[in-house]
Amino acid sequence: MSETPARLAGVVGWPIAHSLSPRLHAHWLAEYHIDGFYVPLAVRREDFGGVCRALAKCGFRGVNVTVPHKEAALAFAHETDAAAKQAGAANLLLFGADGRIEARNTDSHGLVASLEESLGENALRGTTVALLGAGGAARAAIFALEGLGAAKIMILNRNRGRADTMASALQPQLAARLSVLSDADWPAARGGVSILINATSGGMRGSAPLSFSLEALPADAVVCDLVYNPVETELLKDARRRGHRTIDGMGMLIHQAAPAFEAFFGTRPNLGEGLRRLLVEAIGG
Ligand code: NAP
Repeated sequence: MSETPARLAGVVGWPIAHSLSPRLHAHWLAEYHIDGFYVPLAVRREDFGGVCRALAKCGFRGVNVTVPHKEAALAFAHETDAAAKQAGAANLLLFGADGRIEARNTDSHGLVASLEESLGENALRGTTVALLGAGGAARAAIFALEGLGAAKIMILNRNRGRADTMASALQPQLAARLSVLSDADWPAARGGVSILINATSGGMRGSAPLSFSLEALPADAVVCDLVYNPVETELLKDARRRGHRTIDGMGMLIHQAAPAFEAFFGTRPNLGEGLRRLLVEAIGG
């Protein structure tokens, strides 16, 4: 006798209790009356491969992958999409019925969609961007900005050597010009900036604050924070006080989750305003 089990998916990370993905997917599962479950899975670094193999064997369609497994996920897969190859990391693993595992990355897509939603389609074409950070989110942001036609991306990171390494590795794949700035270079460079994007964990709940001054940023520059917990970070509060237009990280979070939901459960979800409210309430924002 064959079974027709509920569709299963989840998110794998360590720690995982803070993840908003289970709420997001549960909301869509209920909205579309899908017989499925999306569960948070606390998995230590050393257990990642074994757990994924077991999940695939017990019928999971796939998992989202978060810190600290994004690089390991890429190495673990048989196939990799272009976005994951570019980013050097995956946030989505899909388990095929034939035992093959595909790695994808939807973070760049999420940021492109969020920026286009807030600013319109061609708003960043030919612009100069200041990007804070040199981790996975910064890499995803660079490919998002490339896709949006940014001309110049100036990178600032606490650990400058890490930014230099990232810029050298990514520049050959890009039309946009990357440069790495030190804090001392910033005052002379900030005059040409159209948008400043924080892709560091600075300011995230539980992390150290971000120490960065928005002083003398052009009045019409947009300030975007990829951190979504809290939704209104100190950086965004400061930007608002100075009269800058702001974009928070919740839009990217929702947009990066939509293609994962479609891959797991077969339906492209609706991204209504109610969803954003639900997530903001979930983090007490
Ligand atoms: P990561 O790979 O660990 O990189 C962390 C980055 O933040 C590094 O550049 C690090 O600098 C920097 N950093 C950490 N604490 C800092 C501080 N107090 N001040 C200044 N810089 C600091 O992490 P990630 O995956 O890139 O994630 C970064 C942030 O993006 C997280 O808050 C994450 O939640 C957010 N994110 C949001 C979305 C979304 O959908 N909205 C998606 C992905 C990520 P060093 O190199 O000097 O250590």
